[in-house]
Amino acid sequence: MNAEARPILVVGGGFAGLSAAWQLRAAGLPVVVLEQAAKPGGRACGERIEGFSVESRLPLVSSGASRLRNFMAAVGVQEGLLPLRFVSMAHLHRGRPRAVKIDSLRGLASTPGLGLRDGFRLLRLPRLLQRYQAKLDLEFPERAAALDYRSVADFARLYFGSNVLDRWVAPTLATASGGSPEDTSRVAFLLQWLRESRGEIALPRAGWEALARAAAERLSMRYGFAAREIVALEDGGYRVACEVATSGAQTLEARAVVLAIPAPAVCKVAGSCLSLTERDALLPVRYAPEALLVLGLDRARTGIPEFLRIPKSESSPIQAVLSEPGFAGGRVPNGRGMLMLQAREDFVSARAGVADDVVAKEIEAAYEQIDPGATGTVRFRRWLRSELAVPCFDVGSYRRLARFQKIQPELRREGRRLYFAGDYLQGPDLDALVVSGERAAGALIADERLPA
Ligand SMILES: Cc1cc2nc3c(=O)[nH]c(=O)nc-3n(C[C@H](O)[C@H](O)[C@H](O)COP(=O)(O)OP(=O)(O)OC[C@H]3O[C@@H](n4cnc5c(N)ncnc54)[C@H](O)[C@@H]3O)c2cc1C
Repeated sequence: MNAEARPILVVGGGFAGLSAAWQLRAAGLPVVVLEQAAKPGGRACGERIEGFSVESRLPLVSSGASRLRNFMAAVGVQEGLLPLRFVSMAHLHRGRPRAVKIDSLRGLASTPGLGLRDGFRLLRLPRLLQRYQAKLDLEFPERAAALDYRSVADFARLYFGSNVLDRWVAPTLATASGGSPEDTSRVAFLLQWLRESRGEIALPRAGWEALARAAAERLSMRYGFAAREIVALEDGGYRVACEVATSGAQTLEARAVVLAIPAPAVCKVAGSCLSLTERDALLPVRYAPEALLVLGLDRARTGIPEFLRIPKSESSPIQAVLSEPGFAGGRVPNGRGMLMLQAREDFVSARAGVADDVVAKEIEAAYEQIDPGATGTVRFRRWLRSELAVPCFDVGSYRRLARFQKIQPELRREGRRLYFAGDYLQGPDLDALVVSGERAAGALIADERLPA
């Protein structure tokens, strides 16, 4: 087949792949998405139980997630995020939830458990952010490589003290990233803070699955196609060997490939096409596990969605709770309620070998202490445990990312037509995934337009 007649293949139909394919299609390029599963959406997509849309992670985003909003509008999911002023935030303090406002320094300083001295120390925050501003870019996280030499915990202790680390920094980090504050780069926290400070906490109205389905319906998708090996052809294209669920092995040819799969899968599938610098950047990428107990309730516990963060010093096995009332057209049926209890990782890993239902019962009992009577109207329980849920951005990751991204234009100039998208490059939230797909597609579109 002549090189120009070959399509572009996007390997992976998670949100990064869907976003890349969407942009390529919008630019008028022939694009086919290969997805090994039977449905789109990847790790972010949950399941439906008794009319409840059960996400497998707290489905929180910032209302300032403009790229996600644009993507939603483009695929036809209008008003996809819940009106945000209706989501309330609380922190657990001495066993009781206390409302917090994180949209201002004054609000932050009044977080329960923080004293006057902590409040004064927090005044350093705007000055620090100003100092780092030029390097913090949500579109290009690797530009913060020069700040990537200190962990979140060291950074917080140094500038704000241990109490602020326990009461605000660690609980904030826990609900958005994988990994512990002792390992995670402070850049991850600063980027998260930047993202959250651009809006309020938001929830998807109808769930991520609906968004993935709406996008995939307008794309050329091949489900049950697992790419096993990608090799470069002499004429500049690629041969992609696939394992096809219905028909066994199949080989496809492409003029360019977008790899929108987790980093270890990239190394496995496209290892022979990667440079040493790329392999050095991708091999250390680590993913953290995630555990969640979802309770479908006969009646809602709260009139509006409530998000509760629980500092470690409260000694609870739970680190965050999302309580949602149902409404017509929402993720929870009208009149019902849903509780999502995010378990603390050290608690879950210390119970390796213990039956899931025993661990889930302990989590449920711990929540009963916080909100007595909450579990009295449970319709269903779902314990969700994923071993490789979210990428960890440990100290040094952004420096590795910078090396990875720096070499890309050079390899493209040499004629290589491989592009990369995914949470491990951009950050573990849906806005970042959309951006990651758009970055990969943007580079590919630019190369397509170059004279041969
Ligand atoms: C259980 C869970 C729930 C989550 N919920 C949320 C959430 O609500 N909000 C949020 O912001 N983040 C959430 N996250 C994090 C988020 O899901 C991930 O950051 C995100 O899914 C990564 O998207 P991706 O497109 O990079 O990769 P993935 O979602 O992993 O997508 C990759 C896709 O490629 C496919 N694939 C892999 N290998 C191959 C191959 N060889 N050939 C063909 N196809 C292949 C996979 O089946 C998958 O569909 C969640 C993570 C988990 C584990």
